[in-house]
Amino acid sequence: EVSDVPAVPEWLPGHLDADGVESLYPPQAAAVEAGVTEGESLVASIPTASGKTLIATLAMLSAVKRGGKALYIVPLRALASEKKAEFEQFEQYGVDVGVSTGNYDSDGEWLAKKDIIVATSEKVDSLVRNGAPWLAQLDCVVADEVHLVDDPTRGPTLEVTLAKLRSRNPGLQIVALSATIGNAGELADWLDAELVDSSWRPIDLRKGVHFGQALHFDDGTQEQLSVQGNEKPTAAIVRDTLRDTVEDGETVEEGGSTLVFVNSRRNAEAAARRLANVVSPELDGDELAALADVADEIRDVSDTETSDDLADAVEKGAAFHHAGLSPDHRELVEAAFRDRLVKCVCATPTLAAGVNTPSRRVVVRDWRRYSGDAGGMQPLSVLEVHQMMGRAGRPGMDPYGEALLLASSHDELDELFERYVWADPDPVESKLAAEPAMRTHLLATVASGFADSRETLLSFLDGTLYAAQTDEQGRLERVVDDMLAYLERNDFIERSRDGDTERLTATNLGHTVSRLYLDPMSAATIIDGIADADDPSALGLYHLVSRTPDMYQLYLRSGEREQYTQVAYDHETELLGTQPSEFEESRFEDWLAALKTAKLLDDWASETDEDRITDRYGVGPGDIRGKVDTAEWLLGAAESLAGERGFGNVQAIREAKKRVQYGVRQELIDLADVRNVGRKRARRLYEAGIESRDQLRNADKSVVLAALRGRERTAETVLEHAGHPNPEMTDVTPDPDAEPVVA
Ligand code: ADP
Repeated sequence: EVSDVPAVPEWLPGHLDADGVESLYPPQAAAVEAGVTEGESLVASIPTASGKTLIATLAMLSAVKRGGKALYIVPLRALASEKKAEFEQFEQYGVDVGVSTGNYDSDGEWLAKKDIIVATSEKVDSLVRNGAPWLAQLDCVVADEVHLVDDPTRGPTLEVTLAKLRSRNPGLQIVALSATIGNAGELADWLDAELVDSSWRPIDLRKGVHFGQALHFDDGTQEQLSVQGNEKPTAAIVRDTLRDTVEDGETVEEGGSTLVFVNSRRNAEAAARRLANVVSPELDGDELAALADVADEIRDVSDTETSDDLADAVEKGAAFHHAGLSPDHRELVEAAFRDRLVKCVCATPTLAAGVNTPSRRVVVRDWRRYSGDAGGMQPLSVLEVHQMMGRAGRPGMDPYGEALLLASSHDELDELFERYVWADPDPVESKLAAEPAMRTHLLATVASGFADSRETLLSFLDGTLYAAQTDEQGRLERVVDDMLAYLERNDFIERSRDGDTERLTATNLGHTVSRLYLDPMSAATIIDGIADADDPSALGLYHLVSRTPDMYQLYLRSGEREQYTQVAYDHETELLGTQPSEFEESRFEDWLAALKTAKLLDDWASETDEDRITDRYGVGPGDIRGKVDTAEWLLGAAESLAGERGFGNVQAIREAKKRVQYGVRQELIDLADVRNVGRKRARRLYEAGIESRDQLRNADKSVVLAALRGRERTAETVLEHAGHPNPEMTDVTPDPDAEPVVA
């Protein structure tokens, strides 16, 4: 019973009851038994959708009740806002919730007053680096999706962050939530935590493989599937799921929705287009009308091709979902799917990583994914496939969930059963020893004062999962020595003797790099590029930051090598740093890919329309946003580094940053800096003769109104933000044909 749980606030049982939680699920009860509400550390390794969040909630609220403070670490920004919204339901009881996703170079002082703080692991890491004092007051830290320590790019940050928080504060409670993994016990040993390792699920999950005309399930049963013409299995499954199951003239089971996982964005979009035609004949008039409304909302978000394609599919009851969608699009799709309006969502695996969108059936259509590093198509991990499968079945709504893989031959049927259906979950393994991770984290550890010698550094690293998992002590030392040598060579750290011991200190530059949250290699590349550039062009700077390991570059498609080699010749004098020779195949290719990325940024900063850019570079609107955000951050870092080194090009770097930030040409920077103006409105104002913030503040209101196409509310807000003494429009008659007049 919830009311028997010790040490939680009195109001909690009533609140949960009203929310449909009458009793604890078995893994939750086991967590309470293990002392999670009494400050015990815990590793909970349980299946997707089995109530991990409530375990964390119980721990955090009991810490808050004791007068303490809790931190909830999420792996993705998108999840930070979702979790914050979830915990805000406790604000009515006086629990203050804050979310920290913003800049990487502040100490987030305002968070000191919050009871529960939600942040990404990168953000927490940067808070540690910037010495946020309130971190010392934490009582409870939740690490969501802790199995991601296995992830080569983000895992090391989570791992090191947990080690740092624990080394500052040895009594700290850690609640680590994990999907089912093979070595949860090892994680519990690492974190000195109790363990709840369970495969219990609130709703039955039947796993199976489609082959021929039948679904083969893990319980040995088979179901026939009716297939129309030569349609693909996914189409037949989606239709089958939609239709009510009728026995002897009675509906024994209502129709449900299907979530289809595919391996690329393009495949997600193509599948949604095809499956929309399967879904639409099954819809009634009310559903079609409601879907048309959703489609309109989607089109209103932006006038891009992605927006149109998505709306076209949604109109017919299907949708796609991938990281290239804008947050607004994503939210609309998720809501329409939860409301059972959209019957089929085709998604890339990002959706499996925590976003709560259960459905009756899950189809894992592609179990291989292209991997450039490993060369060719590689099978997905068991953990990933199990997480996707775990999205099947909505407790309280569906009788059970079904998750299906697709086989094209008898051999493949056997293989898929072996590889995924029967398979035990994979163990997770630390990726800390990988170079970029080591480089970054060693510098941060020295700069933030966690270690001041090779010995203390090694003993700090002893608190990481990597050390807990490796028997090969020599390997850790070797990696550390290599990286220290690199950091010293690039002037990020210094060694000095202090009696018998050798001291490690970060140089001023090293401190700046760590505080800016840069990969030291990015910093070295940037410094090398701007050192001798007196008047760098925006394109040159965009190219430089695109070459750093902190920028995720665009791919160079076949045939583009020539095109961008030409671009490189045309802009030869603008490009910064050393250019690799054309004979160094892969380095030259990377350099060109960075140039393509830079051209995208330059187009954006030259006011090219969003849909022109998506066309030209084969990306989604979400990708433009991602590149722009990263470039803005890296150029801000470049600005600081130039200042630090006393270079004379700080102003040029700042302007290139502002241009990419607002997506405007030089002359609009001042106007676009006014809140609520943005690139399009700034251009219209400029064309109406209003060229600066000052001129806007003193402008004739009818001119502003005409420039903003007669939108009174917009004009008022814009004038207000520019500091206009009297922004109200009540006394103004719009005259769209008015000659531009500047006040
Ligand atoms: P996970 O984080 O493990 O993927 P969630 O914490 O999101 O799963 O839980 C999935 C759903 O189960 C949520 O909608 C949640 O409200 C519900 N839930 C959790 N615990 C209980 C419970 N004890 N009784 C009823 N519903 C619960």
